Amino acid sequence: MANVIDDSSASKTWNSHFIGGGLTPSIGTDMIDVYDPATGELVGRAAAGNAKDIDDAVAAARECFDKRTWRNKTAHDRAALIWELGERIGKHADEFAEIEVRDNGMPMMFAKGNINSLINGLRYYAGMVTKLHGITADLSGNGREIHSYTSSEPVGVVGAITPWNAPLAVLINKIAPAIAAGCSIVCKPPEQTPQSAIRLGELLAEWKLLPEGLINIVNGFGYDAGQALADHPDVDKVTFTGSTAVGKKLIQASAGNLKRVTLELGGKSPVFIFDDADLEKAVPAAAMAIFANSGQVCFAGSRLYIQRGIFDKVIQGVAKVGESMRLGSGFDPQTQIGPLVSQQQLSRVMSYVESGISEGAELIFGGKQHGDKGYFIQPTVFANHDRKAIRIAEEEIFGPVVTAMPFDGLDELEALANNTEYGLGSGVFTSNVSTAHRAAKLIRAGNVWINCYGILDKAMPFGGFKQSGWGREAGFEGIAPFLETKSVYTML
Ligand code: NAD
Repeated sequence: MANVIDDSSASKTWNSHFIGGGLTPSIGTDMIDVYDPATGELVGRAAAGNAKDIDDAVAAARECFDKRTWRNKTAHDRAALIWELGERIGKHADEFAEIEVRDNGMPMMFAKGNINSLINGLRYYAGMVTKLHGITADLSGNGREIHSYTSSEPVGVVGAITPWNAPLAVLINKIAPAIAAGCSIVCKPPEQTPQSAIRLGELLAEWKLLPEGLINIVNGFGYDAGQALADHPDVDKVTFTGSTAVGKKLIQASAGNLKRVTLELGGKSPVFIFDDADLEKAVPAAAMAIFANSGQVCFAGSRLYIQRGIFDKVIQGVAKVGESMRLGSGFDPQTQIGPLVSQQQLSRVMSYVESGISEGAELIFGGKQHGDKGYFIQPTVFANHDRKAIRIAEEEIFGPVVTAMPFDGLDELEALANNTEYGLGSGVFTSNVSTAHRAAKLIRAGNVWINCYGILDKAMPFGGFKQSGWGREAGFEGIAPFLETKSVYTML
């Protein structure tokens, strides 16, 4: 069945979800308006699923799990199929990258990087399927002879709720470890950027590579389809990437059946530049820590601490990088910064710029909308000389806005770094290896980058301390939340 029902004009309508291995017409009748962030034009409308669509998707995932259609395949077969899924997505890499640029606005280079990274994620977790095993233990059993072992078993049906800033990459970050663990999954992609998930569903329906019900995708709004998934009594685990506020709601929703919950949430990540740092490298790295993907990155380095003696030089350097960056459509190969994702996000970021000015920060560069269409904002640099407790220095903005503040050395770092409810990313630039590792020890965050920023790899766990989340994604730790441990005892 065709998903697109009106492809005759520039504007498309998608009316289906991917449930039980096929495209299924939406029961929910609300529509999601899909905009091109570079022009602000309406480019399509996607059916928004409701609680009934979620019920059907969860039933399909449950059936796949309970009938063991996936789990009963050999580990080698499951590994090969997950790898093959990555290869097939790879054959559509250019198409997916174009969809992400059109939907989210990100520059093409960034979109291509995302698609590469998600294919690597599928390969990484394909390799892990054959390495999941338990332990045997030597029991001290009062003269009884007992043989014991543990096994690692899938947690069950997973609900995945994801954000718009790297739509397909984050979705696959959930799917890969979930199915590698033997779970089945229902995905609720972000309403702002549904297109890559819709296309993935179409391709999965066409390929028929995986068992019916193993992966299901229901588009919809967070308050409706998302909430229904989080509340659902037949869902065993929720894995979420998004805002801390919604993460807290999901914890409440999980109480009904004590779902396992993994949360990748927001951040207000600090970057420290010491006066012995190699500024040729530190300045552009600090600029890209905040300007990449227009600052719509959960670990964006949005608090920039510069050692006092080099404050003016560094802040001017970061402003210069911002000033030199080319804003435009993600399809233009010259573009370094694309638009923000939506009008709502643009209004939100502009309101932070206004609050920075009204609360007394010095605007060094930027702060203005760019162009006469689309959701562009200039890279923006504020100086908060007195380190006042102002909103732009404390709240997550999720835009290309950095607040720079002076600091006086390692003695101040711990208090400054950790003076936030978040703990996701952090950066330290110094040529002194002892300073670097002392700083890494003092910062309460899930990621510390030394003389670099934002490097991610599927082999390294990613996640947050404090209100930046629960659990980790990627690495061996990334599959653990999708597994239960069973202990088995046998009297010999
Ligand atoms: P959001 O929390 O508003 O939405 C994320 C997802 O949750 C969307 O799919 C949305 O539909 C859904 N949702 C909203 N309300 C819901 C509800 N009541 N019940 C169930 N689902 C609901 O976040 P956003 O604005 O889309 O994304 C930006 C946020 O995501 C930022 O705070 C950012 O830091 C965070 N983020 C974190 C990471 C990470 O890995 N830590 C990565 C990317 C983004």
